[in-house]
Amino acid sequence: MIDLFSDTHTLPDDGMRRAMASAELGDEQMGEDPTTRRLEETVAALLDTEAAMFMPTGSMCNKVAVSALTKPGDALVCDHLAHVYRFEGGGSAVLSGIVFEPLATERGIFTPKQLDAVMKPGSVYEPRTSLVSIEQTHNFGGGVVWSFEEYAAVCDTARRHGASVFTDGARLLNAVAATGIPANKWASLVDAVWIDFSKGVGAPGGAIIAGSDRFIATAKRFKYLYGGAMRQSGVLAAAALYGLESNVPRMIDDQSHARSLATGLAEAGLEVADPESNMVFCEPPPRLGIQGFIDGMEAEGVRVSAVAGRIRMVTHVGVSSQDIDAAITAAVRVAATS
Ligand SMILES: *Cc1c(COP(=O)(O)O)cnc(C)c1O
Repeated sequence: MIDLFSDTHTLPDDGMRRAMASAELGDEQMGEDPTTRRLEETVAALLDTEAAMFMPTGSMCNKVAVSALTKPGDALVCDHLAHVYRFEGGGSAVLSGIVFEPLATERGIFTPKQLDAVMKPGSVYEPRTSLVSIEQTHNFGGGVVWSFEEYAAVCDTARRHGASVFTDGARLLNAVAATGIPANKWASLVDAVWIDFSKGVGAPGGAIIAGSDRFIATAKRFKYLYGGAMRQSGVLAAAALYGLESNVPRMIDDQSHARSLATGLAEAGLEVADPESNMVFCEPPPRLGIQGFIDGMEAEGVRVSAVAGRIRMVTHVGVSSQDIDAAITAAVRVAATS
């Protein structure tokens, strides 16, 4: 099976498994897991932040960031397709007591003008807008990449209104591959940023949140409060370290695989959005519909998914260029039967 369902479906290769098996371990919760600490130092250096903190999941990074940067009754601005708003069970509303102020966007990218219109200083009536969240790359928007100018302009606007900014960087490293702009430049403009290891980095789990010492001290309190402190997490941290070294430099291949796939699908007659990172979004052949196309592809040995009303295919370390050719051949056959 060629698995284009998600880059969360990556499996550790032999090298990663060896790194995990030989990791030096201790009690993470007590700050005594040496491999976890090495990962935290590595990522703090990569992002050029004072500190970084290993976390069980990206979703928990979002919860912790929101809790650390808001007070109950505050408003959080994000786009209406944002993972933190749409796909986490409303967790930040429950745990942080914030109200979401989602902005309508086409692809997940909002503008300073849109922000200006909703930012509020707070009053006895109105929630104070204390936090703005940017998703880079944008998942449900279509693997969309914020340009540095768009990103910087939104950060600047948020600051002018006295709000904090954090980046849901589940796939920030894919944005680095797409733009050539290093991770520390994206991190330099925000109060907090996190990266997922269970996606393009190819580890079986884990994420990391980064920011100032002061931010991490507050975030740590919420990590423990939400039950996110771990024990011998070095097994996962070793996988993340291995993935950063082995799988991240090749993310540029995921980009070109996505472009080849999009070209092939367009040639098969499908309506395809121009891929900006490692995701290809297309409309199914009208007569088949979404489920019909998913089932047809599955019968041809290719797993794809439905996301935000479209077909999504994600390239990652487990997908070779031969797999892309095979996926295109499968799509041509499925489209021909429709
Ligand atoms: C996957 C994802 C998350 C959640 O990360 P998990 O590690 O799966 O909990 C958050 N935001 C975005 C944009 C994602 O794609």
